[in-house]
Amino acid sequence: MNRPTSDALYEQALEHIVGGVNSPSRSFKAVGGGAPVTMKRAEGAYFWDVDDNRYIDYLAAYGPIIAGHAHPHITEAIIRAAQNGTLYGTPTELEIKLARMLKEAIPSMDKVRFVNSGTEAVMTTIRVARAYTKRSKIIKFAGCYHGHSDLVLVAAGSGPSTLGIPDSAGIPTSIAHEVITVPFNNLDALKEALERWGDDTAAVMVEPIVGNFGMVMPHEGFLEGLCKLTREAGALVIYDEVISAFRFHYGSAQTFGAFKNHAAIEPDLTALGKIIGGGLPIGAYGGRRHVMEQVAPLGPAYQAGTMAGNPASISAGIACLEVLQEPGVYDRMDRLASRLASGLQQAADVHGIPLVINQIRGSFSAHFCDHPVTNYDEAQDTDGERFGRFFRLMLEQGINLAPSKYEAWFLTTAHTDADIDATIEAARKAMASLA
Ligand code: PMP
Repeated sequence: MNRPTSDALYEQALEHIVGGVNSPSRSFKAVGGGAPVTMKRAEGAYFWDVDDNRYIDYLAAYGPIIAGHAHPHITEAIIRAAQNGTLYGTPTELEIKLARMLKEAIPSMDKVRFVNSGTEAVMTTIRVARAYTKRSKIIKFAGCYHGHSDLVLVAAGSGPSTLGIPDSAGIPTSIAHEVITVPFNNLDALKEALERWGDDTAAVMVEPIVGNFGMVMPHEGFLEGLCKLTREAGALVIYDEVISAFRFHYGSAQTFGAFKNHAAIEPDLTALGKIIGGGLPIGAYGGRRHVMEQVAPLGPAYQAGTMAGNPASISAGIACLEVLQEPGVYDRMDRLASRLASGLQQAADVHGIPLVINQIRGSFSAHFCDHPVTNYDEAQDTDGERFGRFFRLMLEQGINLAPSKYEAWFLTTAHTDADIDATIEAARKAMASLA
């Protein structure tokens, strides 16, 4: 596949945009470097690059594009919103409609507030939890990503439950000392951390179904135990559902059918983003009334936003959720993902290439390893170099994956059986080259 225009544009991008990309995950650094592909158009399950090569897309813009690119219903909603004025700085009726839809789908949210990104949503849940508990520390889980605000960019130290060290330059150690990171799916480590720091802990923050070191389900009883231990310590439970909400069914992980006792896994606060904006910038957070009443103008925790609740993002979000309410859409994505996952598995098995696939409904992660992936250590202990080669072999055959071994493959409502067949065929060739 030739990409002369794309390569030339990347050279220009490097001159003007730091690293040539507006989010580091878009660079090809994690897959051996080189120029990322500059796209110019997207429709349904497809991308076209600036050299007119076509790709089947499984990146789905890291999650939001669950209805496929340029879905007519969502596009119309955005156009209508823009024609009525893009930003008011006043309340609108649309905001109430989307808030209602979110509350109906996620009953633990009595009150909602819209923001502009998942990062903002998570950042604010932490502030609200701190305001409510009058405590400062946060416990989170290794490998879960919660956006780029200071507190959640702190990684684990060594040992099961140690105070964090900054994962990025520019984060003071004083802030890192407010964060404790423990391994996912390990209640003993959480218990140990809470025994030591529980009295100072404002919240335990988790992706209830992980989407950031592959797709990882919590072990049976993990979320129940997490909620119980956290509440015993007087702290709040925050679910980061920026990826998981509306990904697996019309609702969130906290109401997912795979979990039997929904009452026992209900969080105090939930952070949302991605899908609920239908491809435009959005975030939202919400929770129980008494906790949310901490937020200004009702309470002392300040949070604001010029762009928050803008009619275009809200309209796109409503339209996207309407598409997801159509009967059978999730079953269809699940069926296509299952076909694709088994096709990939077979393609690897034929050549004796170890491949472990974690599928959750219409999304999955594929790990080059021969052991289960249930926590971050196990996700790290996979063959990144082989993934990098696989990624490029797929890209050259017109299959667009996320350029990282930790990211998921997302099916959309736009993918077809023919797309799956073509992707499996490409994977067969890629695995043959890898063998
Ligand atoms: N939380 C989770 C679970 C995420 O996956 C992400 C983004 N990948 C974020 C928060 C941050 O969202 P945003 O990029 O919209 O700031």
